[in-house]
Amino acid sequence: MGGRHIGMGLVDNDGRISYKKIVKLDETNRSEEGIFNCIREYVDEHAEKADSVGIGVPGIIRNNQIIYTANLPLQNVDVASYVGSRLPLYVGNDASCATIAEYHFIDKKMYSNYALVTIGTGIGAGIILNGNLYNGSTGAAGEVGHMVIDKDGIQCNCGRRGCYEKYGSISSLLKKTNTESLKEFFYLLDRNENIGKVFDEYLENVAEGLANIINLYDLEMLVIGGGIAWFSDKFIHTLKSKVASKILNRYTYDLNMRCAELGNDAGIIGASLLSQYEE
Ligand SMILES: [Zn+2]
Repeated sequence: MGGRHIGMGLVDNDGRISYKKIVKLDETNRSEEGIFNCIREYVDEHAEKADSVGIGVPGIIRNNQIIYTANLPLQNVDVASYVGSRLPLYVGNDASCATIAEYHFIDKKMYSNYALVTIGTGIGAGIILNGNLYNGSTGAAGEVGHMVIDKDGIQCNCGRRGCYEKYGSISSLLKKTNTESLKEFFYLLDRNENIGKVFDEYLENVAEGLANIINLYDLEMLVIGGGIAWFSDKFIHTLKSKVASKILNRYTYDLNMRCAELGNDAGIIGASLLSQYEE
């Protein structure tokens, strides 16, 4: 589930998607009932070919209950009561789904302490510790966007000031540079010195948060996901050296950092893997 659409697919063991279906959410179906009607219909249609149902939701999830979502009209939803199939059901956070997809198909053999930080409208993270997805005690682990990096800073709608995503999200970058999209931003970056300075400061802020996350979990690998990952070559080297200079054990630690590779399908693929990563 995304804020503006639902993407569905039947995923095989190699991460290949078939019967992919994207449903746009608008006034007619952007409701609890509307969203789950779409999902139930799709599950009923493909249940015979599937072993389990996985759903990734942008919000806080506990025991297959959607506790809270910021960008969808879903609160305290018992997902099983909607998805009436007899298949085992797994509901997880969307950032966790993107993380396990990338981890499972690319990094699993090499690393066991790992995070994927999604930089988009906000900032979220999926965290893998000792090879297992870490959800926290109430399902709210990985809300790194609300880690404070300036206690007297910009007011956030979570109630605190100076949250990481107020400085490191794509929305904050576009706002600061009066640009409409990342495409426009990166077009101007090569042509406007001022935008270059703003971008350098932005990367400095992004690096502050990433270094905090690496320090906290002593990670072996950190992957950057979200829309900015498409523009990897424009920033990954600079960002990596900024982060490397800030992590605590910088003298002995070889930082592994890259941008996500699975792109838009990571959410669908990751939801299908929840059966293997959710206990
Ligand atoms: Zn906040």
